[in-house]
Amino acid sequence: MPRPIMATISVPAMQHNLQHVASSLQAHARMAGRAAPRIWAVIKARAYGHGLAQGLAGFGAADGLAMLDLDEAVACREAGWRGPLMLLEGFFDSSDIDIVDTHGLTVSVHGEEQLHMLEQAAPARPIGVNLKINGGMNRLGFAPGEAADAWRRLAALRRKGVVGELGTMMHFSRADDDPAATRAQLGAFLSLIAGMPGPVSVCNSAATLTAGLWANLPGDRPQWVRPGICLYGSSPFADRSAAQLGLRPAMTLESRIIGVQDCRPGASVGYGHLFTAEAPTRVGIVACGYADGYPRHAGTGTPVTVAGRATRLLGRVSMDMLAVDLTAVESAGVGSPVVLWGAGGPSVDEVAHAAGTVGYELLCALAARVPRRILPARSSASGISSDAGDAQ
Ligand SMILES: *Cc1c(COP(=O)(O)O)cnc(C)c1O
Repeated sequence: MPRPIMATISVPAMQHNLQHVASSLQAHARMAGRAAPRIWAVIKARAYGHGLAQGLAGFGAADGLAMLDLDEAVACREAGWRGPLMLLEGFFDSSDIDIVDTHGLTVSVHGEEQLHMLEQAAPARPIGVNLKINGGMNRLGFAPGEAADAWRRLAALRRKGVVGELGTMMHFSRADDDPAATRAQLGAFLSLIAGMPGPVSVCNSAATLTAGLWANLPGDRPQWVRPGICLYGSSPFADRSAAQLGLRPAMTLESRIIGVQDCRPGASVGYGHLFTAEAPTRVGIVACGYADGYPRHAGTGTPVTVAGRATRLLGRVSMDMLAVDLTAVESAGVGSPVVLWGAGGPSVDEVAHAAGTVGYELLCALAARVPRRILPARSSASGISSDAGDAQ
């Protein structure tokens, strides 16, 4: 028998989350009397650790898919995806432009070097471009003072047939925790793009889920939101859980108890003896450690579910094992099922919080050695339904 650890990837949960986000966008669009934004489902980092094939199966109803790696985009084309594909960081080298051209990819152009490469290029077909403007994140993007000139150069390339559809994009730095800062970034962006027609894309998950934020953008332009993390059933907000947002976990990490120790008061557990029993404590040893992607910084008290009962981690996480408190889970013993995160256990966000990080990092860091079981797509899902009733 293989080591009893397993990650279950639920494609139906991914389908649900996309439908749920789409339904709430549609509901807000109806209230605002305008068209709902189109959705780039973000599948970078191998669909946030869920696997590219699962991203394609789960988000087949999205308007487009967005990623970073050219090989991920090419793999989507090879898997039969005919719709739009966007490279969120654009291309890295002039030779990448051939791949962009061959596969009909849309690119972000965020800096002078990329713009220069595009000015030297002679693609067979016009390339869809989103001019990325630095809206205060100070990561990628043209500075506000450089944006108008970059737009003029891209518009010239459009007239030459090098650039096809031309739009603008920006990334919020505090959409998850500071609505005032986000409104200020949006306001500055809106005045910058006044002379730049074409599609607009500004919203990650946090901004997409901030009711109607996108409705502040000009109604006469197509809009694309770019949700990632929420589609995998993890919350972008520290103060709202994924369950409260109506999202379902796409990844469940499970294992089993492989050993039990009865510790007397004063006995300590694991490396560094970080946990010392104050009362008689039954300690279960779980086949899961940081080499599986479980965070080593999760300490005593981190939530975990054993045999359907919520309990806690004890002491330091080892490479291949961790310890849990079975004192109150009398029925548990060797072989008992353990949910580290996901359906039937704590949320990935709760575990991440206990380890001082975010759900994104845990999902993306699931180790290659963990076997995956895939729950296949619901067959009826051929597109996003416009029934907002599914939004619950
Ligand atoms: C990753 C990413 C997103 C998605 O962000 P989430 O917080 O996962 O929704 C959107 N836009 C860009 C440019 C990104 O890099």
